[in-house]
Amino acid sequence: MIPIIDLKGQYQSIKKEIDEAVARVIASGGYILGPEVESLEKEIATFTGAKYAIAVNSGTDALLLALKAAGIGPGDEVITTAFSFIATAEVISFLGAKPVFVDIDPADYNLVVSQVERKITSRTKAVIPVHLYGQPAEMDALMALAGAKGLKVIEDCAQSLGATYKGRVTGTIGDAGCISFFPTKNLGAFGDGGMIITNDEKMANLLKKLHVHGAGEKYVHEVLGMNSRLDALQAAILRVKLKYLPGWSKQRNENTSFYNRSLKGLPLTLPVPKADVYHVYNQYTIATEKRDELQKHLKEKGIGTAIHYPIALPFQQAFSYLNLDLTEYPAAKKAAQSVLSLPAFPEMTPAQKDEVVAAIKSFFA
Ligand SMILES: *Cc1c(COP(=O)(O)O)cnc(C)c1O
Repeated sequence: MIPIIDLKGQYQSIKKEIDEAVARVIASGGYILGPEVESLEKEIATFTGAKYAIAVNSGTDALLLALKAAGIGPGDEVITTAFSFIATAEVISFLGAKPVFVDIDPADYNLVVSQVERKITSRTKAVIPVHLYGQPAEMDALMALAGAKGLKVIEDCAQSLGATYKGRVTGTIGDAGCISFFPTKNLGAFGDGGMIITNDEKMANLLKKLHVHGAGEKYVHEVLGMNSRLDALQAAILRVKLKYLPGWSKQRNENTSFYNRSLKGLPLTLPVPKADVYHVYNQYTIATEKRDELQKHLKEKGIGTAIHYPIALPFQQAFSYLNLDLTEYPAAKKAAQSVLSLPAFPEMTPAQKDEVVAAIKSFFA
């Protein structure tokens, strides 16, 4: 049995340090924000090279609050990819703004910048590129366009912590980067968690209030905010794991280049890392028209897989109120029907990787 990700195995590999960190927080009596969270914020800022980092309750809240701090609200339009997790677009609607979807490049599953340009109107205020599966979107072209049109760029880095684009860390290229610490992300907590990174001092100061009910000083509420704070326990756990993240990303890259070598020649679309990027492979995702049959075959062989994502965003019932023209997203539609993520977690053994490759080969034999 090979799971798609082995969180128990990862815990076992660093159990002593994690248990010590957890015990330290429990004994401290301080459970929300506080010194552990402040230290994690500093460490994430150092790791990414961002000036400011604000810890929040989830990656979804990171996106919601970053958009709010960027001034997005009713009447505004925000352009994003047609192919992502629902959170990317849901937060736009939640703020009363309108999500505007663009199709993806099938080569990297990220948004096509020329299509962003075509969808800009006088109401467009921001763009959310997603660095899907851990591979950076085309940021140079997007930043040039956003600069020319005066749009904010909020990067969805939920799957890309540590990924770089032309030497720059994702999340520090646009106005803000939104990180998720959901357990299956490359840096996963033992529950929900998230962070916003930014180099914009004004935005950082506003975010520091927005996530604690709009308060600068306790019980003095300058703006309307919400409760989106990170637990000290999660911060202490994440601080232990952050030290291992570069090694884990390297191991993911080794696993995925092994797959790329071993699966070459089969009737599959394999992920192609672009030049000038460091892909961190939160997911190793292949594509085939026989996706459902392949997934069933692998399940019978005891191999866990996942579909990221089975329904492209414009096709979700939750967005039916937008009355979109669904013929505008052929690449996203096709991806939803053909993608399959394989186990590529850092702790995989060579035997496990061989087993996955053999099982895929036996399907096509
Ligand atoms: C996981 C994820 C999110 C949401 O993060 P949560 O921490 O689960 O709220 C947003 N966008 C993408 C692309 C994700 O993968």
